[in-house]
Amino acid sequence: MNQKIDLRSLTRTKLKKLMPQLGLAAFRGEQIFDWAQKGAVSSIDELTNLSAADKFKLDAACFLSFPALIKKEVAANGDTAKLLLEFADRERIETAIMFYSGKSSRDRVTCCVSTQSGCVMGCKFCATALYKKCRNLTAGEIVAQVQLADKTAKDLGANGLTNLVYMGMGEPLLNLAEVKKSLELLNDERGLNIGQRKITISTCGLPEQIRQMADWGMQIHLAISLHAANDELRQALMPAASRYSIKELLDAADYYQATTGRRVCYEYALFKGINDRSEAARSLGKLLDGRGALINLIPANPLPETGFMPSDGDTIKRFSQLLSLYNVEVQIRQERGRDINAACGQLRKRDLEV
Ligand code: SAH
Repeated sequence: MNQKIDLRSLTRTKLKKLMPQLGLAAFRGEQIFDWAQKGAVSSIDELTNLSAADKFKLDAACFLSFPALIKKEVAANGDTAKLLLEFADRERIETAIMFYSGKSSRDRVTCCVSTQSGCVMGCKFCATALYKKCRNLTAGEIVAQVQLADKTAKDLGANGLTNLVYMGMGEPLLNLAEVKKSLELLNDERGLNIGQRKITISTCGLPEQIRQMADWGMQIHLAISLHAANDELRQALMPAASRYSIKELLDAADYYQATTGRRVCYEYALFKGINDRSEAARSLGKLLDGRGALINLIPANPLPETGFMPSDGDTIKRFSQLLSLYNVEVQIRQERGRDINAACGQLRKRDLEV
């Protein structure tokens, strides 16, 4: 691991404080912030408004790097793109970009952000779980990934990213400090300037960390991957859920909602014969009734390595109708990018395929 300081991981305030310690004027911190947060600079050498002497001092203690774009795929209908990136230590991640059009979502371009290069949570239905050996991404790496996605979106004719969902590879709440820093950087008006209300973080649970997030004082949306309304089934599908009960999870989610004023979204992927029966819909409805919750029903995405099959369209419709008998709001997510394996739970490193 590089022991030097990653300049792309530092907030504006931190950079300004660091400069005098390195023998540079504090205002250089502002200039470096602009370079690191706006563009794809990959070395200190590229900072053309710094003198050779300043670059030398900076180089002794800090670095700037940028991931390599190994592969870019665009769905046949053009509504989704997927990037395969590689960092200096050869760790790889995938990032998805979704393009939405239409009256209600004109020009919305959403980046699905990865926070780890694999995942240790072990969800039985998820491709990312195949990579248990993984590392946390730094804030700078998360930002660089979003910058690359922004550039790709522009190359494909859009105006750039408008929304972020931290729903890519990894469990964001296991990398909380770097995730928080990345939010501050991406939200900065001199950076990509993405509004907090346009950002969602998705988690498979982790009540303690949800409470910490609630206390950040940010306006970030929270999504919880629920997928089952009873502990036994949830723990079978999501082994990491064995450490706490659904009740503890919902208590933390209620705290998040009460503290931030942001409505919590519950994600429920429908797997044929596993969690899609009428009884399951009623249990889910009862569980979330009156909580002011939004339920996002996700038609499950196939994973060849597992036996999980998606529920059929009629079952999803019936499940949704049963839920609407309760005091909850239900949406059926339009899945995209299946032809390039960029849909929910399909992101992986693809080391061997390239
Ligand atoms: N670890 C976080 C972020 C990953 S988000 C989390 O669990 O929320 C990825 C989303 O896709 C999660 O809701 C996950 O449960 C869901 N998912 C994983 N595999 C899926 C599949 N095969 N079909 C549909 N959704 C899936």
